[in-house]
Amino acid sequence: MTHPPEPLLAVTGLETHFPIRRGLLRRPVGAVRAVDGVSFAIPRGKTLGLVGESGCGKTTVGRSLLRLVEPTAGGVRFAGHDVRGLSQAALRPLRRRMQIVFQDPYGSLNPRMTVRAILEEGLVVHRLGDGPERLRRMTAALERTGMPAAALARYPHEFSGGQRQRIAIARALVLEPELVVLDEPISALDVSIQAQVVNLLVELRRDLGLTYLFISHDLSVVEYISDDVAVMYLGRLVEHAPAADLYAAPLHPYTQALFSAVPSVDPARRRGRIVLPGDVPSPANPPAGCRFHPRCPLAEAVCREVDPPATRVGAHLVHCHVAARELAAGDAATASARIAAALTAAAAAQSGSQATPPG
Ligand code: SF4
Repeated sequence: MTHPPEPLLAVTGLETHFPIRRGLLRRPVGAVRAVDGVSFAIPRGKTLGLVGESGCGKTTVGRSLLRLVEPTAGGVRFAGHDVRGLSQAALRPLRRRMQIVFQDPYGSLNPRMTVRAILEEGLVVHRLGDGPERLRRMTAALERTGMPAAALARYPHEFSGGQRQRIAIARALVLEPELVVLDEPISALDVSIQAQVVNLLVELRRDLGLTYLFISHDLSVVEYISDDVAVMYLGRLVEHAPAADLYAAPLHPYTQALFSAVPSVDPARRRGRIVLPGDVPSPANPPAGCRFHPRCPLAEAVCREVDPPATRVGAHLVHCHVAARELAAGDAATASARIAAALTAAAAAQSGSQATPPG
């Protein structure tokens, strides 16, 4: 019997909490549960899109994997290694293989360093190659991202935002990584430049066999680049599926609300706008039961008390009591349509009750 290959990255029950300290002695009085029990896997050569509103914890997930912030609990396995169990010294060779590209190419490149110094820094830290070999690697990485070798002698301020993000990508590539965490890599760029950078990332993945965790709030770009998509809300994953399944039949009310805000030229995919009431609760004091219940138009009594377990249809996972009930009665497409109709009816009832003057 053959077993499926181990995924390049496997995350189980990841938690990253930040203590809240008060008083003169800075005693901990609570914790911000930025990431609170997140599990997923990314097979080699694939892309997982991680989406959600800002503040949902998706950036902390990316940083926790690389231990740029220390997770509180849970497991992270990369290429068969227990990342959380390693000392900082033992982690260093793995860090070369797991790189991150940050959102802001203005803030992530040191303005006092030449592009050469920026790219060479990682090679020096990881003791890779001698002078000529380093120059060869840096030139190759720049050219792969569409930048000329002459850029090595210049400073970041001499480049546009799109060019700086290409340099930031080259800084990751120069170390020949296997996994790249892309943390909102295009959201700071002009719209006209975004498509070029996304296409570059797609080409690099294909040509170099890279594996991506693509963190974004842009659902159209996530659909374009991702094999699988995970939706995050208040520190937890609420839905996780192959991209085609998720975009064809979103099941969680929160996912449906996110999708309803995306304009579509395809009439079959146009959805009535679902406006969620209220704000995202504080991750320092998450609601009991389903964390989405204070904002969910479909919330029932059980939602306020019982944390919904995962319901699975094929590779599609959702944490929602109502979705579980609908899936027990029909297929994912029917369940998705029924949940969408219920959300639209709830929104109409809400606006009707607001429009009706008190009798
Ligand atoms: Fe809404 Fe209940 Fe589903 Fe949570 S479990 S998303 S509150 S219907």
